[in-house]
Amino acid sequence: MKKQYLLLIIVAGLLTFLSACKNDSNYKTLIITGQNNHLWKASSPILKQILDETGMFSCEIMLTPEKGGDMNTFNPDFSKYKLVVLDYNGDSWSDKTKSGFLKFVKDGGGVVVYHAADNSFPEWKEYNEIIGLGGWGNRNQKDGPYVYYRHNELIKDTSAGPGGSHGKRREYLVKTRMDHPITKGLPDRWLHGTDELYSQLRGPAKNMQILATAFADSSLGGGTMRDEPMLMVLSYGRGRIFHTTMGHADEGGGPAMQCVGFITTLQRGAEWAVTGNVTQKVPFDFPTVAGVSLRSDFKQMTIEEVMAKIGSYDISKSTKYFTYLESEIRKQAGDESGLLNLEMMMVTVLKNKETTVDAKKLLLKEISWMGSEYSVPVIKELLNNNDLKDEAAFAYARLHSK
Ligand code: ZN
Repeated sequence: MKKQYLLLIIVAGLLTFLSACKNDSNYKTLIITGQNNHLWKASSPILKQILDETGMFSCEIMLTPEKGGDMNTFNPDFSKYKLVVLDYNGDSWSDKTKSGFLKFVKDGGGVVVYHAADNSFPEWKEYNEIIGLGGWGNRNQKDGPYVYYRHNELIKDTSAGPGGSHGKRREYLVKTRMDHPITKGLPDRWLHGTDELYSQLRGPAKNMQILATAFADSSLGGGTMRDEPMLMVLSYGRGRIFHTTMGHADEGGGPAMQCVGFITTLQRGAEWAVTGNVTQKVPFDFPTVAGVSLRSDFKQMTIEEVMAKIGSYDISKSTKYFTYLESEIRKQAGDESGLLNLEMMMVTVLKNKETTVDAKKLLLKEISWMGSEYSVPVIKELLNNNDLKDEAAFAYARLHSK
């Protein structure tokens, strides 16, 4: 009896502890914008939405004065936040605000440097140490080397020349360069939605690791023929910095921000900047080498939404929702209740009169290898269906031999 009580107390304690962890993981985040040579009024709310959607961050957008305004009025209390996201490229901050930001980072605050934020503050030495690499703003050899990959070799190139360029916007392949919590589980290469491919960045590049690069092919307009850094992590004092050069915003975000690769690496990079770890799973709609994957509303599709799409599949359409389903099945491998849950959803679609014959054929194929006793009654009924009897017989035999 005593042992059972002890166990109960331990379990209760553990649950309290876990729920406390959950509450603590609502990281207060400050997104700074208000000046940019980009559409910050479009990008900042999207950055907020992308981070808020994880349930881990609660974001507040703070605007600086407009260009030429009195920067002394911009004076955030950085100590209130765990993470600062920079969507800012504009006038210098006051000395007080600059030193407040540096103290925040040195004391262990997390930072996300987003796209043109690495164009900002060319004269601010410490800021350039935080971003590692920057572009434009008369940056050149005085600011540090060009940093890029040539084949598999990391190059720090001190030759003279301007910092910052990009060719014509295009879809491009992003190549993962190292194992890191942010890139763990991502494909080796994936296709990014149409974006600027930032190139020829230069800077101090201290305490910096390059997580991913993209090849700036000159045949596609203005490329350097180098593998340019896309995603970077840095440390500054006790602070961690995640730097993404991607995500050029159009009105409504556009393909660069809608790209699931951009969204996912931003979410994972932000978590890592705060905690040094990543607990978020790679979503099932992450892009592959074969194609981009965009979310027009920036929200991750639920498995229920995927199942609703699957029912209307026919042979002329893309099998991408089945690919999602298969990746969900693989993720549940070894988890019987998780697999049963998916199987029940699949059987519901299989039974639905509106579901197309092509969709039912593919569902039977999936069920034949991942299914259980649960599917046997509906499969038995389909043994008499002229369109489906072969697939049903196959699934029936497979499930019976298990
Ligand atoms: Zn841009």
